[in-house]
Amino acid sequence: MDFELSEECKALQGVARDFAEKEIAPTVTAAERAHRFQREIVNKMAELGFWGCPIPEKYGGNGLGFVAHVVLCEEIARVSCSLAVLFNAQTMGTSRAILEFGTEAQRRKYIPKLVGAEFIGCFAVTEPDAGNDVTAMTTVATREGDRYIINGVKTWISLAQVADVGLIFAYTSLGRKHRGISAFIVDMDLPGISCSPDQEKLGWRAAPTAEIYFDNVSVPDSAMLGKPGQGFEIMLRCFDNMRLTAAARAVGNCQALIDESIKYSTQRVQFGQDIGRFQMVQEVIARMVVETEAARLLTYRNANQKDLGHLHNTLEASMSKYFASEVASRIADDAFRIMGAYGCSGQQRIGRLLRDAKMHQVLDGSSNIHKMIVATDALGYRRANR
Ligand SMILES: Cc1cc2nc3c(=O)[nH]c(=O)nc-3n(C[C@H](O)[C@H](O)[C@H](O)COP(=O)(O)OP(=O)(O)OC[C@H]3O[C@@H](n4cnc5c(N)ncnc54)[C@H](O)[C@@H]3O)c2cc1C
Repeated sequence: MDFELSEECKALQGVARDFAEKEIAPTVTAAERAHRFQREIVNKMAELGFWGCPIPEKYGGNGLGFVAHVVLCEEIARVSCSLAVLFNAQTMGTSRAILEFGTEAQRRKYIPKLVGAEFIGCFAVTEPDAGNDVTAMTTVATREGDRYIINGVKTWISLAQVADVGLIFAYTSLGRKHRGISAFIVDMDLPGISCSPDQEKLGWRAAPTAEIYFDNVSVPDSAMLGKPGQGFEIMLRCFDNMRLTAAARAVGNCQALIDESIKYSTQRVQFGQDIGRFQMVQEVIARMVVETEAARLLTYRNANQKDLGHLHNTLEASMSKYFASEVASRIADDAFRIMGAYGCSGQQRIGRLLRDAKMHQVLDGSSNIHKMIVATDALGYRRANR
């Protein structure tokens, strides 16, 4: 067993850390305040190959793999959770899905442009009445000749209003429950597609989210990803990948909270000494460090399994995503206590980190859903990895 990152990954980590500190850190606070999507930074990240780790060179990626992908995501999330959202929207939820399920024509048409950030991607499952219960969706794609006509509403879709292409899930056969869902690669400038204004959020404010309205949107047969009725399977496979990224994003957020807490603990003097000298503060710092390292190891193990070819590791995806999100939430509380009044200042970096940290528990499957997956597997009621 080797717990060390490869030399290649360590080098990549250094590049990402340097980029995040030099290019993102000086601009992130203003972008978050203005709710501004940093397209120019996304382009620079594309130039460095950040969107193409789990994508082969043949389609514009670098083939460095899933561990490289999570190392990058963690480093970017340490400075901006909003930009880290794109490791899913741009890579796992679109390029990687098209790589795994697309035709050769679809792969060539979309993947290189997503990896190069010529296209921005989005992934749309959630609807007003379909959150964790994805089969409650009501968006339909009705067959007319050699085309499908899409009608419905998606909500809370990351990057919807800036996306060029979306992976959209809809019922093509309503009576067949999950077997009636299909997936479509949809060009977001088609007539009949519109978006709501940016949805107000607690954190991740520079990653826009919106409702998408589909009003008789006509797409050709060739827009379908996979086969009719294969949408649910594709969705689950995307979830396996997206939950890995979500765990890495939470770990990056945790590390930022630790960094801020240590900085403050070694600078703030009370009762004649750094507050970091007080044992009760040390107890909190120790827990933050150990729990984050445990979350990181679960996440790296999940990624390593994928690099070894175990792509459908739903159990490990749930374990790492659940644990990392819960740790982020707990650590935010710890950091808040250490920071005292400074932590209450919403305008400082720490205010943003605290707000960002709560978000992980909700997205990419809530903690309850992941506990259910882990528990039903442990109890032998339903195997997670199938
Ligand atoms: C910032 C942001 C970005 C997002 N981006 C995207 C995106 O790009 N694409 C996309 O498709 N979606 C996106 N979403 C939607 C997100 O994935 C959903 O919010 C998430 O799936 C949870 O759904 P919900 O909020 O409707 O919660 P609900 O499903 O309504 O759950 C509410 C509560 O009930 C609990 N609950 C529900 N079912 C069960 C159960 N069976 N057992 C126990 N407890 C249960 C949940 O754990 C939760 O605590 C985004 C959301 C946010 C906030």
